[in-house]
Parts: sequence; C-alpha cells; structure tokens
Amino acid sequence: MRQFEPFLIDGEWIAAGDRETFAVIDPSSGEVLTTVAQATGDDVDAAVEAATRAHRDHRWSGLPPIERTRILSRIADLIEENLEELAVLETRDNGKPIERSRADTLFSAKDFRHFAGAPGRLAGTVVPIDGGAHHVYTVLEPVGVAALILPWNFPIMTAAHKLAPALAAGCTVVVKPAEQTPLTMLRLAALCEEAGLPKGVLNVLTGDGRTGAALVAHPGVAKVSFTGSTDVGRRVMASAAATTKRLTLELGGKSPNIVFADADLDAATVTAMRASFGHSGQMCTAGSRLLVQRSILDEMVSRLSEATRRVPVGNGLDGGISVGPLVSEEQRQIVLSYIEKGKADGATVAVGGGVPDRPGFFVEPTLFTGVTNDMTIAREEIFGPVTGVIAFEDEDEAVAVANDTSYGLAAGVWTRDLSRAHRMAARLHAGTVWVNTYNIFDPALSFGGVGDSGLGRDLGDDALHSFCERKGVVIAL
Ligand code: NAD
Repeated sequence: MRQFEPFLIDGEWIAAGDRETFAVIDPSSGEVLTTVAQATGDDVDAAVEAATRAHRDHRWSGLPPIERTRILSRIADLIEENLEELAVLETRDNGKPIERSRADTLFSAKDFRHFAGAPGRLAGTVVPIDGGAHHVYTVLEPVGVAALILPWNFPIMTAAHKLAPALAAGCTVVVKPAEQTPLTMLRLAALCEEAGLPKGVLNVLTGDGRTGAALVAHPGVAKVSFTGSTDVGRRVMASAAATTKRLTLELGGKSPNIVFADADLDAATVTAMRASFGHSGQMCTAGSRLLVQRSILDEMVSRLSEATRRVPVGNGLDGGISVGPLVSEEQRQIVLSYIEKGKADGATVAVGGGVPDRPGFFVEPTLFTGVTNDMTIAREEIFGPVTGVIAFEDEDEAVAVANDTSYGLAAGVWTRDLSRAHRMAARLHAGTVWVNTYNIFDPALSFGGVGDSGLGRDLGDDALHSFCERKGVVIAL
C-alpha cells in the first residue's frame, strides 16, 4: 500500500502537502496501513465549487441518458473486474470477514447495474387540469450538488447505495468516507474515472467530522445523504436547516428479532447468529434484541448458547469467520462498557463477555439472557457482537416490547402462521420487516428507518427520486 493516499477534487488527485494527516489502521493488528489527509475548509470549498461547475455546465446531466447508462454500467463492470482487490482492501481497512467484503463489493456493483437503467426512465408526467386551457407537465431534474457522508461499517456498500442513484439522477457529488475506512471509496473513485465519468462530477474528500460538518454547512450543497449515528444525524439535520438542504438520514437501530414458538427453530437459530454477530454486530440492522416466546425460552436459550459458542472468531482475511476485530480500540472499549452495563442491570452473560487472547480489537461473541426491555443493553445501539434474549408471552406483548424503542430500522419475525406474519408486519414500527429471514437487501428495494433510525430511503426509486426535484411546467394554450 502507498504511504499516502491522495483525495480527489475536479479530476486531480491531491497530495497531503502541509495538511494535517492521520493514519488508517488495520484493525486485525493495530498496525498503520497508510496515511490520509484531513481535508481543509479550502478543500471543501474547492470540491463543492468543482461539483457546482460540473452541475452548471451539464457535462454529466446533459449527456444523453443512454450514455450515462453506459458509464454507470461500466462502473459496475469495473467493480466486478476488481472485486477481489476491493474486497481485500475493505477487509484490511475495516477488519470485516473477507466473504462479507466480497458480498458488499458485489452488492456495490449491483447498485450501479440497477441504477444504470434509471437515466432513461426518469420520466415526468402530464397533468390534466382545467379542461384543456393549459398544457401541464412535470419533469425530474437533478437536485444539484449532493454531499454523501459515509460510516465506517459498510464503507464501499454505503458509498454505492448513495453514489449510484445520485449519479443516475444526474447530480454531481462530493463524498466524504469515514475517517476510519476511506480506502475503498478512493479506489472506487479511480474506477469511476476509468469508466469515463467526466471530471468534477465526483469529488472525494478524506477527513473526520470537521470535513463532514463543513460540507453540510456549505451553501453550494443542495442535498446531504448521510449514513451514521443518530447523534451526528441530528447535528447534520440542525445544520442543514440553515440552508434548507434536502436530507436523507440513515441512522442507528435497535432491531427486534422475534421468535414465536411455532417457528422453524433451526432456521431461527442459525439466522439469529448472522443477525446478531455477522460483521461482528457492527450492523445498523443488527437483531440485537432477540425476543423469544416464553414457552420455548429454555430450548432457545440452550440452542442459542451452543450456537454462540461455535461462532468462528478470527482475522477477516483468514476466511470462514463471522466475528472479526472491531474497527478500533475505541469501539472495543464502548462495547466492553455495554457488557458491564448489562451485568450491572441484572442480565446474565450466558456466553462470552470477555476479550480473546490475541492481538487486534476483538470482543468475544456475547449472549445475554434475562434481559428486559428497560435495560441499557436493550435500549442503546451497542455496535458489537453482543445480543440479549428478552422473553415474551404472546403476540401483543411481542409487539409492545418490539415497538418500545425510539428506533425503527428493521425487525425480524419467525413464525409458520401466515396470518400472524401479516399481522406482525402491519403492527411493527420499522422501515423493513423480514419474515422467516433477516438482512435481505436489493438495489430495487428502498431501505431506511422510522423514528430515530432516520429520514428518507437509500436504494430503490425512493433513493433515485430523493436526488431529483420535480418541476411543474404550465403552458397556456
Ligand atoms: P458517525 O455518526 O460517527 O460518523 C458517520 C460519518 O459522519 C463519518 O464520515 C464522520 O466523519 C461524519 N461526521 C462526524 N461528525 C459530523 C458532523 N458534525 N457533521 C457531518 N458529518 C460528521 O457514525 P459511524 O460510527 O461511522 O457509523 C456507525 C453508525 O452508522 C451506527 O449508528 C449505525 O447504526 C449507522 N449506520 C446506519 C445505517 C443505515 O442504513 N441506517 C447503515 C450503516 C450504519
């Protein structure tokens, strides 16, 4: 890896110069992978100005839709052609299991493949009013310069979730990857250049929250699409109000995964492991409140305990593991403090709770039993391999407990009763409900949350339209 990774403004890769720099750490060893620059206020201005020029001269939105489709498809091709390199880079940067990185990278290609078809179908409407005295139609126009601010847990995939619909809508963009994991976004930007994206259409700034905050405050930015924590999301919302920006906020979650007594318990157990411990629990949709019907509580606790003991822990690049290192030592300390809070609140550690004896930022897969929904570990997002079993009696109580949260990102329901499945889907307060499965995503399916989990949607036509403004045109005949 290069000693220093430059960032991108107006087609120029910018060296650190005399800017502040910071290290990008390999979470499996704690060693320095490379260094990036903290973009300055002047860099933010330059990136937004470059994107504004590219927006105003229509060098991207003015291309025939079929040409934009060709370039977006080429980006998808290039991601697939470079899949292994991108996946290894993602795992070295973030620590996640290599299979997860491959899947995330493939999904990123799918995002571009899906939205490549959009430019030619961004059609307006003809609106009949007043019996023919006017000809009235609407058109969809790109919103302008979009700032895309990314989290560290799904670096390449959240980039693609936002970048593909933004570009498909004809926007120009400035992206800020998370300071912990900037590397795959920089590589993706190089692939976008190679695919023929005109210069200035995509700009990438590395830096921490200061760079993100400067982008959100910038009057030249029309739309912010942010994925990250609820706390920072609220700050983004407050700051964006000053310049009336359009907003998409994909924030945290505390999702219930609800197992009824009539469920396929084998499938529910295996999937609960993925929902709780996949990517070391560093998922916004983590099913970290595992609601189990009381009549099968003992059996499920025994199944879940056995399965948790078998969750493979190791370095992401080893292959075949589920729980890798957390992204940083800071994140590990936060997760360990939640384990202590769980114990102090009276929950029981059935499995794990400690730190494996190895280098890197690891925490053991941890299963709490005897959790009640008022405990801190049931209310706050932990973002680590920690899950808690909460007992419930019947459907009404399951709904009451599941919905007793400020979040509303996702929920899982396990039952063989079709009517109950539909009743639960209707009653759960969440952006997505999975029945007899968990964490199924597709570029065509909008994804996002209610309540403290955010505002608006990534993916699907909702995401595409969130990067557009609808203009009405009224012509007197
Ligand atoms: P974070 O909020 O700490 O940071 C997210 C991004 O915001 C980073 O790029 C950071 O540099 C930037 N930032 C920090 N302060 C800022 C400010 N004042 N203004 C603008 N930008 C600022 O989140 P994180 O720790 O990187 O990511 C984990 C969080 O993301 C979790 O809460 C997780 O649930 C959430 N998440 C949600 C989804 C979803 O789709 N709902 C997906 C992935 C992650």
